[in-house]
Amino acid sequence: MLDLSKSIKKGVSKADLHMHSNHSDGNPSIEEILEYVQNKTDLKVIAITDHDTITGAVMAKKLAKKLHYKFEVIVGEEVTAKEGHILGYFLKEPVKPGMSAHETVKAIQAQGGFAVASHPFFRTRLKSPNMITMDGVGFMVLAKEKFDAIETANACIWERANRKARIINRSLLFLNETGGSDAHILHAIGKSYTLFAGETAEDLRRCLKRWGYTQATHEKWTAWSVFLYLIFFMPKGIELMKSIFLKSERRSISLLNKREMNRYKREKKLLENLSQDNKPKEV
Ligand SMILES: [Zn+2]
Ligand SMILES: [Zn+2]
Repeated sequence: MLDLSKSIKKGVSKADLHMHSNHSDGNPSIEEILEYVQNKTDLKVIAITDHDTITGAVMAKKLAKKLHYKFEVIVGEEVTAKEGHILGYFLKEPVKPGMSAHETVKAIQAQGGFAVASHPFFRTRLKSPNMITMDGVGFMVLAKEKFDAIETANACIWERANRKARIINRSLLFLNETGGSDAHILHAIGKSYTLFAGETAEDLRRCLKRWGYTQATHEKWTAWSVFLYLIFFMPKGIELMKSIFLKSERRSISLLNKREMNRYKREKKLLENLSQDNKPKEV
Protein backbone atom coordinates (compact mmCIF):
# COMPACT_ATOMS: atom_id res chain seq x y z
CA MET A 1 0.00 0.00 0.00
CA LEU A 2 1.22 3.51 -0.77
CA ASP A 3 2.16 5.66 2.22
CA LEU A 4 0.34 8.84 1.25
CA SER A 5 1.29 10.73 4.41
CA LYS A 6 4.82 11.12 3.00
CA SER A 7 3.43 12.85 -0.08
CA ILE A 8 1.20 15.31 1.76
CA LYS A 9 2.85 18.29 0.06
CA LYS A 10 3.05 16.59 -3.32
CA GLY A 11 -0.55 16.59 -4.48
CA VAL A 12 -2.05 14.58 -1.64
CA SER A 13 -5.00 16.14 0.19
CA LYS A 14 -7.07 15.59 3.31
CA ALA A 15 -10.79 14.82 3.42
CA ASP A 16 -12.88 14.54 6.58
CA LEU A 17 -15.63 12.17 5.47
CA HIS A 18 -17.80 11.93 8.56
CA MET A 19 -19.44 14.78 10.50
CA HIS A 20 -22.83 15.80 11.88
CA SER A 21 -24.62 19.14 11.86
CA ASN A 22 -27.71 20.37 13.70
CA HIS A 23 -29.77 18.75 10.93
CA SER A 24 -29.35 15.58 13.02
CA ASP A 25 -27.66 15.23 16.42
CA GLY A 26 -24.67 17.52 15.84
CA ASN A 27 -24.22 20.87 17.55
CA PRO A 28 -23.04 23.27 14.80
CA SER A 29 -25.09 24.74 11.99
CA ILE A 30 -24.07 24.21 8.36
CA GLU A 31 -22.81 27.81 8.15
CA GLU A 32 -20.63 27.30 11.25
CA ILE A 33 -19.16 24.06 9.89
CA LEU A 34 -18.25 25.66 6.56
CA GLU A 35 -16.66 28.67 8.20
CA TYR A 36 -14.65 26.48 10.58
CA VAL A 37 -13.36 24.25 7.77
CA GLN A 38 -12.44 27.31 5.71
CA ASN A 39 -10.59 29.17 8.46
CA LYS A 40 -9.26 26.52 10.84
CA THR A 41 -8.38 23.47 8.75
CA ASP A 42 -6.42 22.39 5.68
CA LEU A 43 -9.15 20.00 4.51
CA LYS A 44 -9.81 20.01 0.76
CA VAL A 45 -12.96 17.90 0.90
CA ILE A 46 -15.57 17.30 3.60
CA ALA A 47 -18.66 15.10 3.70
CA ILE A 48 -21.63 16.12 5.81
CA THR A 49 -23.10 12.82 6.97
CA ASP A 50 -26.11 13.54 9.17
CA HIS A 51 -28.15 10.64 10.52
CA ASP A 52 -30.84 9.65 8.02
CA THR A 53 -31.06 12.99 6.23
CA ILE A 54 -29.22 14.85 3.45
CA THR A 55 -30.88 18.26 3.87
CA GLY A 56 -27.89 19.83 5.64
CA ALA A 57 -25.40 18.27 3.24
CA VAL A 58 -27.25 19.54 0.15
CA MET A 59 -27.39 23.02 1.68
CA ALA A 60 -23.67 22.87 2.54
CA LYS A 61 -22.66 21.86 -0.97
CA LYS A 62 -24.59 24.77 -2.52
CA LEU A 63 -23.32 27.27 0.04
CA ALA A 64 -19.64 26.26 -0.26
CA LYS A 65 -19.85 26.71 -4.02
CA LYS A 66 -21.67 30.04 -3.81
CA LEU A 67 -19.18 31.49 -1.32
CA HIS A 68 -16.16 30.14 -3.25
CA TYR A 69 -14.74 28.25 -0.29
CA LYS A 70 -11.38 26.54 -0.76
CA PHE A 71 -12.81 23.06 -0.19
CA GLU A 72 -15.58 20.91 -1.69
CA VAL A 73 -18.56 19.28 0.01
CA ILE A 74 -19.79 15.76 -0.67
CA VAL A 75 -23.45 15.04 0.01
CA GLY A 76 -23.45 12.17 2.49
CA GLU A 77 -25.75 10.46 4.93
CA GLU A 78 -25.15 8.09 7.83
CA VAL A 79 -27.98 5.66 7.27
CA THR A 80 -29.35 3.67 10.21
CA ALA A 81 -29.71 0.22 8.70
CA LYS A 82 -31.13 -2.67 10.76
CA GLU A 83 -27.64 -4.06 11.43
CA GLY A 84 -25.91 -0.71 12.07
CA HIS A 85 -24.64 2.50 10.52
CA ILE A 86 -23.73 2.74 6.83
CA LEU A 87 -22.28 5.87 5.26
CA GLY A 88 -23.51 6.87 1.81
CA TYR A 89 -21.47 9.34 -0.28
CA PHE A 90 -22.15 11.24 -3.52
CA LEU A 91 -25.89 10.96 -2.91
CA LYS A 92 -28.59 12.63 -4.97
CA GLU A 93 -31.54 11.32 -2.94
CA PRO A 94 -31.88 10.49 0.75
CA VAL A 95 -31.70 6.81 1.66
CA LYS A 96 -34.40 5.74 4.10
CA PRO A 97 -33.39 4.26 7.45
CA GLY A 98 -34.58 0.93 8.84
CA MET A 99 -33.79 -1.23 5.81
CA SER A 100 -31.44 -4.21 5.96
CA ALA A 101 -27.75 -3.55 5.32
CA HIS A 102 -28.10 -5.34 1.98
CA GLU A 103 -30.96 -3.07 0.87
CA THR A 104 -29.16 0.02 2.16
CA VAL A 105 -25.93 -0.70 0.28
CA LYS A 106 -27.94 -1.41 -2.88
CA ALA A 107 -29.99 1.80 -2.50
CA ILE A 108 -26.81 3.89 -2.13
CA GLN A 109 -25.07 2.29 -5.10
CA ALA A 110 -28.20 2.40 -7.30
CA GLN A 111 -27.97 6.20 -7.36
CA GLY A 112 -24.23 6.18 -8.15
CA GLY A 113 -23.18 6.57 -4.52
CA PHE A 114 -20.49 4.87 -2.47
CA ALA A 115 -21.44 2.69 0.51
CA VAL A 116 -18.98 2.66 3.38
CA ALA A 117 -19.18 0.68 6.63
CA SER A 118 -19.12 3.24 9.42
CA HIS A 119 -17.13 2.36 12.62
CA PRO A 120 -17.91 -1.31 11.81
CA PHE A 121 -16.63 -2.83 15.06
CA PHE A 122 -18.05 -0.33 17.50
CA ARG A 123 -21.35 -1.18 19.15
CA THR A 124 -23.10 0.66 21.94
CA ARG A 125 -25.66 -2.10 22.53
CA LEU A 126 -27.81 0.40 24.36
CA LYS A 127 -31.32 0.87 23.18
CA SER A 128 -32.68 4.02 24.70
CA PRO A 129 -35.56 5.63 22.80
CA ASN A 130 -34.10 9.12 23.21
CA MET A 131 -30.66 8.28 21.90
CA ILE A 132 -29.29 7.66 18.48
CA THR A 133 -27.34 4.39 18.62
CA MET A 134 -23.79 4.21 17.37
CA ASP A 135 -23.63 0.64 16.15
CA GLY A 136 -21.39 -0.61 13.38
CA VAL A 137 -22.55 -3.39 11.08
CA GLY A 138 -20.10 -6.00 12.40
CA PHE A 139 -18.06 -8.68 10.73
CA MET A 140 -20.72 -10.85 9.08
CA VAL A 141 -22.32 -7.95 7.21
CA LEU A 142 -18.91 -6.65 6.17
CA ALA A 143 -17.95 -10.03 4.76
CA LYS A 144 -21.27 -10.53 2.97
CA GLU A 145 -22.17 -7.15 1.48
CA LYS A 146 -20.40 -5.34 -1.33
CA PHE A 147 -19.18 -2.19 0.43
CA ASP A 148 -17.10 0.31 -1.55
CA ALA A 149 -14.89 1.09 1.44
CA ILE A 150 -14.52 0.69 5.18
CA GLU A 151 -14.02 3.43 7.80
CA THR A 152 -10.86 2.49 9.70
CA ALA A 153 -10.16 5.85 11.39
CA ASN A 154 -13.02 7.34 13.40
CA ALA A 155 -11.99 9.97 15.97
CA CYS A 156 -14.89 9.32 18.34
CA ILE A 157 -14.53 5.64 19.13
CA TRP A 158 -11.94 3.59 21.00
CA GLU A 159 -8.83 2.96 18.93
CA ARG A 160 -9.25 -0.77 19.55
CA ALA A 161 -12.29 -0.77 17.26
CA ASN A 162 -10.43 1.16 14.54
CA ARG A 163 -7.50 -1.24 14.82
CA LYS A 164 -9.79 -4.24 14.49
CA ALA A 165 -11.27 -2.76 11.30
CA ARG A 166 -7.77 -2.22 9.86
CA ILE A 167 -6.55 -5.72 10.71
CA ILE A 168 -9.62 -7.48 9.33
CA ASN A 169 -9.65 -5.32 6.22
CA ARG A 170 -5.97 -5.82 5.44
CA SER A 171 -6.08 -9.56 6.00
CA LEU A 172 -9.48 -10.49 4.60
CA LEU A 173 -11.56 -7.81 2.92
CA PHE A 174 -9.13 -5.58 0.98
CA LEU A 175 -11.49 -2.60 0.75
CA ASN A 176 -10.39 0.99 0.41
CA GLU A 177 -10.03 2.69 3.79
CA THR A 178 -11.58 6.01 4.83
CA GLY A 179 -11.17 8.27 7.84
CA GLY A 180 -13.65 10.73 9.29
CA SER A 181 -13.91 12.60 12.56
CA ASP A 182 -17.59 11.76 13.30
CA ALA A 183 -17.55 15.31 14.67
CA HIS A 184 -20.63 16.53 16.52
CA ILE A 185 -18.89 19.78 17.56
CA LEU A 186 -16.71 22.15 15.53
CA HIS A 187 -13.48 21.40 17.41
CA ALA A 188 -13.64 17.71 16.48
CA ILE A 189 -13.64 18.38 12.72
CA GLY A 190 -10.50 17.04 11.04
CA LYS A 191 -9.47 14.82 13.99
CA SER A 192 -9.58 11.86 11.60
CA TYR A 193 -9.34 12.14 7.85
CA THR A 194 -8.75 10.41 4.54
CA LEU A 195 -5.62 11.09 2.50
CA PHE A 196 -6.09 10.90 -1.25
CA ALA A 197 -4.24 11.86 -4.42
CA GLY A 198 -5.60 15.10 -5.87
CA GLU A 199 -7.64 17.98 -4.47
CA THR A 200 -11.27 17.68 -5.45
CA ALA A 201 -14.26 15.51 -4.57
CA GLU A 202 -13.99 14.01 -8.04
CA ASP A 203 -10.32 13.08 -7.41
CA LEU A 204 -11.41 11.40 -4.18
CA ARG A 205 -14.12 9.48 -6.01
CA ARG A 206 -11.50 8.21 -8.48
CA CYS A 207 -9.17 7.20 -5.62
CA LEU A 208 -11.96 5.31 -3.87
CA LYS A 209 -12.40 3.20 -6.99
CA ARG A 210 -8.76 2.06 -7.00
CA TRP A 211 -7.60 -0.18 -4.20
CA GLY A 212 -4.90 1.32 -1.98
CA TYR A 213 -5.28 4.91 -3.22
CA THR A 214 -6.76 6.25 0.01
CA GLN A 215 -5.36 6.19 3.51
CA ALA A 216 -7.16 6.74 6.81
CA THR A 217 -5.41 8.54 9.62
CA HIS A 218 -5.80 10.62 12.80
CA GLU A 219 -4.86 14.08 14.02
CA LYS A 220 -4.01 14.55 17.72
CA TRP A 221 -6.78 15.79 20.00
CA THR A 222 -5.99 18.87 22.05
CA ALA A 223 -7.05 18.96 25.72
CA TRP A 224 -9.40 21.85 24.86
CA SER A 225 -11.17 19.86 22.10
CA VAL A 226 -11.58 16.86 24.42
CA PHE A 227 -13.02 19.14 27.12
CA LEU A 228 -15.51 20.69 24.67
CA TYR A 229 -16.57 17.25 23.47
CA LEU A 230 -17.11 16.05 27.03
CA ILE A 231 -19.35 19.06 27.70
CA PHE A 232 -21.32 18.26 24.54
CA PHE A 233 -21.74 14.61 25.48
CA MET A 234 -22.54 15.18 29.16
CA PRO A 235 -26.37 15.23 28.74
CA LYS A 236 -26.12 12.14 26.52
CA GLY A 237 -23.87 10.49 29.14
CA ILE A 238 -26.47 11.13 31.85
CA GLU A 239 -29.16 9.67 29.60
CA LEU A 240 -26.92 6.66 29.04
CA MET A 241 -26.40 6.12 32.76
CA LYS A 242 -30.13 6.37 33.35
CA SER A 243 -30.83 3.75 30.71
CA ILE A 244 -28.25 1.42 32.24
CA PHE A 245 -29.04 1.80 35.93
CA LEU A 246 -32.61 3.06 36.18
CA LYS A 247 -34.28 1.31 33.28
CA SER A 248 -32.45 -1.94 34.00
CA GLU A 249 -31.00 -2.12 30.51
CA ARG A 250 -27.78 -3.59 31.73
CA ARG A 251 -26.31 -4.37 28.38
CA SER A 252 -22.64 -3.59 28.60
CA ILE A 253 -20.81 -1.45 26.08
CA SER A 254 -18.63 -3.80 24.10
CA LEU A 255 -16.82 -3.81 20.81
CA LEU A 256 -17.60 -7.34 19.77
CA ASN A 257 -19.70 -9.66 21.87
CA LYS A 258 -18.73 -13.28 22.39
CA ARG A 259 -21.25 -14.71 19.96
CA GLU A 260 -20.08 -12.39 17.23
CA MET A 261 -16.44 -13.26 17.95
CA ASN A 262 -17.11 -17.01 17.79
CA ARG A 263 -18.94 -16.59 14.52
CA TYR A 264 -16.03 -14.54 13.24
CA LYS A 265 -13.54 -17.29 14.13
CA ARG A 266 -15.67 -19.92 12.38
CA GLU A 267 -15.94 -17.86 9.20
CA LYS A 268 -12.36 -16.61 9.24
CA LYS A 269 -10.90 -19.84 7.90
CA LEU A 270 -13.34 -19.98 5.04
CA LEU A 271 -12.72 -16.36 4.12
CA GLU A 272 -8.96 -16.78 4.32
CA ASN A 273 -9.15 -19.40 1.59
CA LEU A 274 -11.41 -17.20 -0.49
CA SER A 275 -9.23 -14.13 -0.03
CA GLN A 276 -6.19 -15.90 -1.47
CA ASP A 277 -7.98 -15.91 -4.84
CA ASN A 278 -9.48 -12.41 -4.46
CA LYS A 279 -6.44 -10.56 -3.15
CA PRO A 280 -5.77 -7.60 -5.45
CA LYS A 281 -2.27 -6.78 -6.57
CA GLU A 282 -0.57 -4.13 -4.44
CA VAL A 283 -0.25 -0.72 -6.08
ZN1 LIG B 1 -22.39 6.19 13.49
ZN1 LIG C 1 -21.60 9.55 12.82
